[in-house]
Amino acid sequence: MDDFHAWPLVDLLSVSEEGAHAARCQTSCYRCIQRFGNRRYHGLLDWRLGIAYLRAMVMPGYTCGLSQYDGRFPEMAGWREHATALAETAARMRPGALIASIHAPSGLPCLLEQGRSGPGSAIVVVHPLWSTQGDAGLALAGGEDVRFIDTFELERRPLRALEMARGVGRQGNDEGPTPSNTCRHHDTPALPGAR
Ligand SMILES: [Zn+2]
Repeated sequence: MDDFHAWPLVDLLSVSEEGAHAARCQTSCYRCIQRFGNRRYHGLLDWRLGIAYLRAMVMPGYTCGLSQYDGRFPEMAGWREHATALAETAARMRPGALIASIHAPSGLPCLLEQGRSGPGSAIVVVHPLWSTQGDAGLALAGGEDVRFIDTFELERRPLRALEMARGVGRQGNDEGPTPSNTCRHHDTPALPGAR
């Protein structure tokens, strides 16, 4: 996990004449973890999330980006910037109805739904391994009552994820290419170190 000269980091952090893999590959590609044999799951594969999950299991105190200290880990480098970009992309899908912003109490990217009387409550963008339930969620949101959307969902099916965040769940999915099976990554336990 920490050996930059061994797999998987040697591949994930490789630099070719085309540039750095980590800069070119946000989730997965044929140069890293996509294989013919796992083609059914290509839409789900995410090397950053995989490394974060493994590190959370072996490194006590790892908070998956909740602490700035974690920014030194390659899977967390640039996470906030990417989360901000995902929020901006989602806002562009609903011009006039969604605004990308920064949620001041938490410092996290967020989406604000535009109502007739101005912006509604925030939908805060979080890492998929952060606990957002109960007191952990309240602390994460800086004490505010907000809704959450994680970057795994926001990246793969933003409109469906926004519906879920709003509590307007429905069956089905009409957002184009999506994983061929259903990933319930929320079933994975939240990080014990998460607030
Ligand atoms: Zn890749």
